[in-house]
Amino acid sequence: MGPCIPWDCSERGLRLITRLTAVTASVLVCGAPALADWRWSRAVFPVAMFSGYTSHFGLRIGPAGGSEPHHGIDIAAPLGSPIRSWWGGVVKELINDTGCGVGLVIQSGPYEHLYCHLAGSLDAGRYRSGQVVLQVDSRVASGQLIGHVGMSGRSTGPHLHWGVRYGNQWVDPLVVLRAMARARRG
Ligand SMILES: [Zn+2]
Repeated sequence: MGPCIPWDCSERGLRLITRLTAVTASVLVCGAPALADWRWSRAVFPVAMFSGYTSHFGLRIGPAGGSEPHHGIDIAAPLGSPIRSWWGGVVKELINDTGCGVGLVIQSGPYEHLYCHLAGSLDAGRYRSGQVVLQVDSRVASGQLIGHVGMSGRSTGPHLHWGVRYGNQWVDPLVVLRAMARARRG
């Protein structure tokens, strides 16, 4: 059976195969026998000082009143608190725009993880926040400090917008978090 997106797998059991390449490349396969879920336990919750979820994945009511897709989850946390990389990978993109604000995209195999509304600044191709200095192609380890919670971009309070894309498709990070929790229990 071929690769699938996590929500297709979640009820039948997530199976994770890790290929040893320069980056830890991970592929989800539905129903593959005898491969344990334990590798999810390497993944790290990105917010060190969790205060709550403030917006879910999927359609929501936007500031203009209409419904709009929300391609991630919003996690409230104290201003300036640490953000850790969900998984080891390579910085693929640095962002500074009116929506995401200051942000990062990290690639881990077929996954891309997006971090928005960060503190710190982007200047001359480098993201800096406290002791963190990252640029495109910087390698990051799972759990590495990659920035701090801010309010840049479209943000009404300090929070992290965290998105996870598998291939070209945004997936619900809560599905990922549930799989991580199951792996820890197992
Ligand atoms: Zn958001």
